[in-house]
Amino acid sequence: MATATTVQVRLARRGYDIQIGTGLLCGVDAFVRHCRPAMHVVVVTDSNVEALYADPIAERLSEQELDVNILTIEPGEPSKSPEVAAELWQVMLDAATDRQSLVLAVGGGVVGDLAGFVASTFARGLDLIQVPTTLLAQVDSSVGGKTGVNLPEAKNIVGTFWQPLGVLIDVDVLATLPEREYIAGLAEVVKYGVILDKEFFEFLEQNTDAILARAPETLIHIIARSCQLKADIVETDEREESGRRAVLNYGHTFGHALEAATGYERLLHGEGVAIGMQCAARLAARLGRIDAAVVDRQARLLRRLKLPTDLPEVNPNDVLHLMRRDKKVAEGQMRFVLPSRLGDVDLVGHVPTDAILASMNA
Ligand code: ADP
Ligand code: ZN
Repeated sequence: MATATTVQVRLARRGYDIQIGTGLLCGVDAFVRHCRPAMHVVVVTDSNVEALYADPIAERLSEQELDVNILTIEPGEPSKSPEVAAELWQVMLDAATDRQSLVLAVGGGVVGDLAGFVASTFARGLDLIQVPTTLLAQVDSSVGGKTGVNLPEAKNIVGTFWQPLGVLIDVDVLATLPEREYIAGLAEVVKYGVILDKEFFEFLEQNTDAILARAPETLIHIIARSCQLKADIVETDEREESGRRAVLNYGHTFGHALEAATGYERLLHGEGVAIGMQCAARLAARLGRIDAAVVDRQARLLRRLKLPTDLPEVNPNDVLHLMRRDKKVAEGQMRFVLPSRLGDVDLVGHVPTDAILASMNA
């Protein structure tokens, strides 16, 4: 197994590299130069990640004669708002940010989505480099170019597609990530196996102890494979037009609704996705698309990775109502991403309501 690896994202206009390994933050200045020489770097981070990683990164860049500003937001989803975006625009203006400046997002998905949005809009667009520090951001949100902020009733409703110049993933940063956040990120990793890669699913089954122990080589492998699988999809459907990118929403129709039904307070995103994948798998079995054995196998892996698989205390009818409101279905009927076997999924419409409700009961 490699100790460092590069995944290339090949896009129609401009591709970029995702570097994955250990000790990579020490070479952040070289990575920035490799992406694009810059004089002024705006580092966006949150107050948890600042002292741990953003300050040392800023120091390294300063040593290379770069002019660096650090913009620190409050940790947590409420910071993904138009108000915080506006504050960042103002601070960037005060710091003489211009088109030659580069934005470096150092943090989890909240920082990445917000910093990406601000980078894509300030002065009609600044170059962006992602340094994701949560597992979720490393395997999902930092790859693919989606940015955005939330409005009170709709998550990610205001945003852009804005591809980074590069993504630097140092698995060492996961050592400080709280256990619950780490485990939640694993849900997206399992998702890639189920939707696209049976062998990868088997690798996860065979390496649960190393995964839970956050063994660096295992981390590099699972993150690189996840990024590669996501990059392959994004390359074929960069702007979510052909429907190909929709397979990445496996478990998310149920998952988002479960997050909403519990007031965004009980479940982390990955936890909602894990339970949502179980609902989707049960639905697929109920519709005769897969054997019950596949449902059980997915549940076993999720449980071994300490992910939840059972619905929280919610009324399935409320969850159904929320699913229908999801922006992904706003244009028409609900379509579910359902497995047809391990490593393959279909988009399925016209699913009977009673089957959807029944799939929420274990
Ligand atoms: P996500 O990537 O899951 O969307 P957030 O951006 O909300 O999540 O980050 C989750 C939490 O973890 C935040 O409180 C953030 O400050 C914290 N965090 C991010 N990266 C690290 C890290 N490497 N070590 C410790 N805490 C971190
Ligand atoms: Zn997700």
